[in-house]
Formats: sequence, structure tokens, C-alpha cells
Amino acid sequence: MNASSGDIENIVILGSGCAGLTAAIYTARADLRPVVIGGHEPGGQLSLTTLVENFPGFPEGILGPELIDRMQKQAERFGARFIEGSATRVDLGQRPFTIEMHDRRLRARALLVAAGASARMLGLEAERKLIGHGVSTCATCDGAFFRNREIAIVGGGDSAMEEATFLTKFASRVTIVHRRNEFRATKIMLDRARENPKIRFLTPYVVEDILDTGKGVVEALRLRQVETGSTETIAVDGVFLGIGHDPNTKIFQGILDMDEEGYLRTSDRTHASVEGVFVAGDVSDRVYKQAITAAGSGCMAALDAEKFLQEHSQAQTQPQTKAQTQARARD
Ligand code: NAP
Repeated sequence: MNASSGDIENIVILGSGCAGLTAAIYTARADLRPVVIGGHEPGGQLSLTTLVENFPGFPEGILGPELIDRMQKQAERFGARFIEGSATRVDLGQRPFTIEMHDRRLRARALLVAAGASARMLGLEAERKLIGHGVSTCATCDGAFFRNREIAIVGGGDSAMEEATFLTKFASRVTIVHRRNEFRATKIMLDRARENPKIRFLTPYVVEDILDTGKGVVEALRLRQVETGSTETIAVDGVFLGIGHDPNTKIFQGILDMDEEGYLRTSDRTHASVEGVFVAGDVSDRVYKQAITAAGSGCMAALDAEKFLQEHSQAQTQPQTKAQTQARARD
């Protein structure tokens, strides 16, 4: 597409996961001709999973990449345009906003941030290769595939404890592998996991490798005992990474309000701290993190953005902060 011209776009959407694509469908159907910047993980976290069984409307389930592909086609059908790559810098100091990429610069009357959060990975070559084939970053999404199987979960925080407990509904045994003897998890979550007879703890251990003996599915983990340096192999059918997520908000540091972990703060529904910027999906969600909640918030942000653009149909060059807008309303 040709989006590198001097044209001012109505709306640029950062991110092409469930949230960004739903926002693209809604803003495209509102004739806003949105431009979607795909991001460094096009399709978001769904593109890293296999079968999705909990997205309403697909009683047999649907493959994550296929669901993403369908959403993109649906958005394109109504006029959404897609650009590969990521935004490297934004200037939200005045409207139209400026969004810079390596090879182009876009200007937009509104910005919708749906850049997602990336699951932290261990950094092993095998985990990228085996993701969706025994390696998972989402227990709610993939737990049911491990009925009566042995699985491991890596991490020592609340996510790892919560997911381990959840996974015992399916798995025959869940092994929590954590690199320290102390846990970051809250006592109540840790106690719940400790009391569960299907959960065993291996600490302090790090995962050195995920083994598939050439079969393309997880078969075992090679673990190293941190204190002694000795290694051992445990047989598992799956491994879940519960080592946290990082919201993709680096380029907004010092520009948009975010919490101490980088999740964007919203107020008044999906509005970010700069007027004309809207937020959807995991980039501001540290609780639900589901495809359907991301899609729902993408819809909400799109409707809020549409309303904003209607109210500011004459290009306005100086964005107002929330405080200024409220002050203006009081005058
Ligand atoms: P977290 O608290 O940051 O814990 C991440 C865990 O993964 C830590 O134990 C950490 O080990 C380990 N880890 C990180 N990088 C690793 C690596 N490269 N290799 C091996 N282990 C690694 O993340 P979280 O558990 O996702 O929780 C995030 C926030 O959400 C927390 O505030 C938590 O309380 C909250 N949360 C709440 C609930 C709930 O209340 N129901 C559920 C889930 C999450 P170290 O401890 O050694 O650093």
C-alpha cells in the first residue's frame, strides 16, 4: 500500500493481533480507511498458538493463525490497509500525530495502540521451534490439549502458580520448575499449588534445553540444578512458560501514562493520557489476556476513536490533555 505520502490518515492502528484487527474491522466499516502497522509479531500471540477452542463461534475450534488471517481479510474487505514492520518512534505532541517506521513516516488524526504484550521466553532455540507443538505461553488456551499428560511449567510467580493449579484439571502431573528456592508468588497462590497433590516442585532448576528427538513435539526437558550444576532429564509432553509478559510500550515511555511494568493506563474507557490516542488489548490488560477480551476492547477503542474523529472532523493541530479538556468543559 502507499501510505508513505504526505496524506494525513484518519487513524493508524499499531498491532495486528486480535485487538488491532477488530479495531481495523470496526474503523474500516466506519469508512475511516485505517492503516494497520503489523508490529514485530504480526498476528500477535494467536499466531504463536495452534488450536483455539474458546473463541466463540468456532465449535470445532480454529487454528490461531487461521483466525488471525480471517480477521485480517475481514478488515481488508472493508478497506483497512496493512503495513509490515513496527513503529520506531511517535510524536504525540501535536495533531496530526507522527508515527515513524524504519522506512516511512505516517501522520494520523487518531492513534489506536494495540501493540500487545509479548510472553517472556527462555531464549532457547528449541522453544521457538516447538511453540504450538508442546511449548505454550498460555495455559487457558492450550491446557485442554494435555489431558492425562505430564507437563512442566516454568516460573515462580503468581502466573506460574495459577496456571499450574489450572493445568491439574487436565494433566496427570504438573512439575513447576523454578530457578530459585524462593518464590515471587503470593503466599496464598503458592500454598494452593503446594497443597495440590498433582503438583511437584523442582527448585532451584533452570531449563537448559527442550528435547524433541527430531519428532517435532516436546518429549523432555534437560534441567540444570543451579546449586550443584548437575543435569537431569525429565520426560514431559508439554512445557508452559509462566515467566511473565512484557507490554510492547517502549516507544511510549515518557509520552503516555503507564504503570510501573509498562502497561498503558486508560481512563474514560479506552482513552490514553493524550487526547486522540486509544488503547486496546494486552498492552493495557494485565488480568484477562484472552483473545476474546482483546477483540472486545479493540471494538470499544474503535468506537471511541470513531466518536473522537467525528467530534474533531476539522483538523485540530494542538491536542489537549485530559485536564485541559475538563477545564474547557468547566469554562
Ligand atoms: P512475575 O511476578 O514477574 O514472575 C515471573 C517469574 O518467572 C519469577 O519467578 C521469575 O523468577 C521467573 N522468570 C523470569 N524470567 C525467567 C527466566 N528467563 N528464566 C526462568 N525464570 C524466569 O510474573 P507473573 O507471575 O506473570 O506475574 C505478573 C504480575 O501479575 C504480578 O504482579 C502478579 O502478582 C500478577 N498476577 C496475579 C495473579 C492473581 O492474583 N490471580 C495471577 C497472575 C499474575 P525470579 O523470581 O527468580 O525472578
